[in-house]
Amino acid sequence: MTSHIPFDNSYARLPDRFFARIEPSAGRAPRLLALNRPLAEELGLDPEWLAGPEGLAVLAGMTIPEGAEPIALAYAGHQFGHFSPQLGDGRAILLGELLDRNGKRRDVQLKGAGITPFSRRGDGRAALGPVLREYIVSEAMAALGVPTTRALAAVTTGERVIRETALPGAIITRIAASHIRVGTFQFFAARGDTDAVRLLADHVIARHYPDAAGAERPYRALLDRVIAGQAELIARWLLIGFIHGVMNTDNMAVSGETIDYGPCAFMDAYDPATVFSAIDQHGRYAYGNQPRIAQWNLARFAEALLPLLAEDQEAAIADAQEALGVFADLFQRSYQAGLRRKIGLATVRDGDDAFLSALLEAMAVNQVDFTLFFRRLGDVAGGAAEEGVRALFVDPTACDAWLAQWRARLALEDGEAADRAAAMHRVNPAYIPRNHQVEAVIRAAVDREDFAPFHALLAALAEPFVDQPHLARYAEPPQADERVLQTFCGT
Ligand code: AMP
Ligand code: MG
Repeated sequence: MTSHIPFDNSYARLPDRFFARIEPSAGRAPRLLALNRPLAEELGLDPEWLAGPEGLAVLAGMTIPEGAEPIALAYAGHQFGHFSPQLGDGRAILLGELLDRNGKRRDVQLKGAGITPFSRRGDGRAALGPVLREYIVSEAMAALGVPTTRALAAVTTGERVIRETALPGAIITRIAASHIRVGTFQFFAARGDTDAVRLLADHVIARHYPDAAGAERPYRALLDRVIAGQAELIARWLLIGFIHGVMNTDNMAVSGETIDYGPCAFMDAYDPATVFSAIDQHGRYAYGNQPRIAQWNLARFAEALLPLLAEDQEAAIADAQEALGVFADLFQRSYQAGLRRKIGLATVRDGDDAFLSALLEAMAVNQVDFTLFFRRLGDVAGGAAEEGVRALFVDPTACDAWLAQWRARLALEDGEAADRAAAMHRVNPAYIPRNHQVEAVIRAAVDREDFAPFHALLAALAEPFVDQPHLARYAEPPQADERVLQTFCGT
């Protein structure tokens, strides 16, 4: 058999205590639901082969392709603030890694492929609904320009998985820069296994932050890079209204990619307190709390790295605190710059921050749709009537004063109105995976085996910054009776 996936597995070359070797076991009578052809090509894989019987058997976890070394990764993590010393890949199996067309190393992982030594009480399986949600949202995030794991394929396995009811089982093939999490470092740190922490840090530096290897203090440089990456990532989430929903330390990738799409959702009406996840009863992972929680998670990362930062513990702690101290500033800088772009400002002036805060406050009070507001503001910048924006406010007069100030502020900017409108449209999406649309897709697939809405939504989200009249309904917020109040992990 020729090798159809050119594996080169660096993680499997780490010591045995980093993972468990395990073979997938879920597939019975698989059916291909979706294959991401452009991504397959980017990975240097043949989409025809993947879509054929041999490829399908691999995507369904029924055959192990040549060169794969299937493993489940060990990791720990703080879940809702409580530490679990052993979590690990309980329903995911890393087939291996490959170098993509750009020479970038990417993980190929089957999520939902069966029991592993880390499954604890779980069944190692995934239900169809969460697989479709992850496929849609991760691909939408990629199209929105946000660092994220990707979805290569989704299959149903032909098995039923038991949740509250029996549901169709499914597997998503996930592609990631790596699956190394803050919790992976915590796993070894909690065991006092400093050698493993160092090996892992060296692996991450070589793989994700090669420039840190040449820094005066490589492990401090690693910490700095991860902090900067998260500050940027969370700013990007906020700027498009994304709520991860379970920012546990095991769900934070040190690569800086968004990972582990569970009860994630996009906010419709702007409100920093927005929470959808049914398991997040205290709003720990609310939209507006995400920067704070990221910083908390990064403090846990820094703790795990302490023995590498300095021989002397006091010195190591001081070093970690210094590194963490810049997070808030990095986040604010990238968030504020993003907000300025969203309202069409290319320059910075005194008073901009207060002006932006006033807008967000008015939006919250008036339950303004976050996505539509900025999209339509771009239209207004290009000459459209203000009415489209005003109509989004419960009290349309609430934005009149702000709009007048905005026009006055724009008058201080260089450039043509048309260029400004185009620049705003490049950062303010028309289409996001709105909750009610995702929910409708899942219902159709699970209840009626109708996958047409899934494919239609995926297609609609492929070019989120380009107005397409035939997609108008995907730009609309939910009607009152369509509103989704809660989302579930569904694991
Ligand atoms: P997550 O919801 O992805 O953050 O998962 C948290 C932990 O629970 C991870 O260790 C998962 O591997 C594990 N887990 C989640 N669902 C299952 C399942 N169905 N079977 C086994 N382990 C699971
Ligand atoms: Mg997880």
